[in-house]
Amino acid sequence: MRIDLHLHSTASDGTLTPEALVDAAASLGLVAIALTDHDSVGGVAAATRAGIERGVTVVPGVELSADVPGGDCHILGYLVDVGHAPFAAWLAARREARITRGVEIVRRVNAALRSRSGAGAPQASWESVARRADLAGGGSVGRPHVADELVAVGAVTSREEAFASLLGNGMAGDVPSAKVPPAQVIAVIRDAGGVAVLAHPTYLPDFAGRLPDLVACGLGGLECLYGDYAPDVVAGLVALAGVHDLVVTGGSDFHGPSTGAGSGAIGVPLVPDSVLEALARRHGRG
Ligand code: AMP
Ligand code: FE
Ligand code: FE
Ligand code: ZN
Repeated sequence: MRIDLHLHSTASDGTLTPEALVDAAASLGLVAIALTDHDSVGGVAAATRAGIERGVTVVPGVELSADVPGGDCHILGYLVDVGHAPFAAWLAARREARITRGVEIVRRVNAALRSRSGAGAPQASWESVARRADLAGGGSVGRPHVADELVAVGAVTSREEAFASLLGNGMAGDVPSAKVPPAQVIAVIRDAGGVAVLAHPTYLPDFAGRLPDLVACGLGGLECLYGDYAPDVVAGLVALAGVHDLVVTGGSDFHGPSTGAGSGAIGVPLVPDSVLEALARRHGRG
């Protein structure tokens, strides 16, 4: 039986609602999914309700960004207590920081567009970005919402092109997030009763060298099955997880059809349900 433990919904930068994700997962025959929105657990309740109707187990999850010198580090929190008040407050503060950053991203991207094409250049509107991110409803704004706005105003033709020309690392719209060290991110997840898992490890420069420190901070798992990782990459990660006694997890990082993130398809790569059993055992260990 198959599962997918890394999915984004409209509660952050995915294009499908939590209910639509559950529907799609059920249609594909998945028995469990985790919702892992950036800095938000706002979609978990709706997904859980839909999951009960469709016979899909919904694992409460979240994806948090940590700052490490010279690279970005994404940490997934699984089986978190979404009702834990300090956790909810911490996430709300992170979403506030995303708003400040989002305003600056729009400002910088608009300046880049003007310097490229002059006064008549297409311009993104922050108000429109805020609507796309559903900030009024507690959404979590990120670069993909700016990308969608850039598509809408005709500056680019897709999210992927937006990242390739304006939003990618080192480009005009790559505004750093407020710095939170991995130790704090892991502590926040554990305080909320969750298991902390390093997402898409290969995106973190020198992840193998950094792993002992993360494990010392309480990291509990490694996302070994991800996107288009080749078999030898997966094998290397699984071996590393074994060395550090980390639970092996996996998921698609699906953000919606043709969004350019993750594998691009729910349920890809194939993740067996034994992964969730191992995660639950780790959760029980505390
Ligand atoms: P942010 O959270 O604002 O830093 O934006 C990061 C998000 O942008 C990731 O979670 C992905 O959803 C998305 N993303 C990053 N790189 C790309 C890319 N090359 N194409 C499409 N989406 C991307
Ligand atoms: Fe994302
Ligand atoms: Fe990520
Ligand atoms: Zn993700």
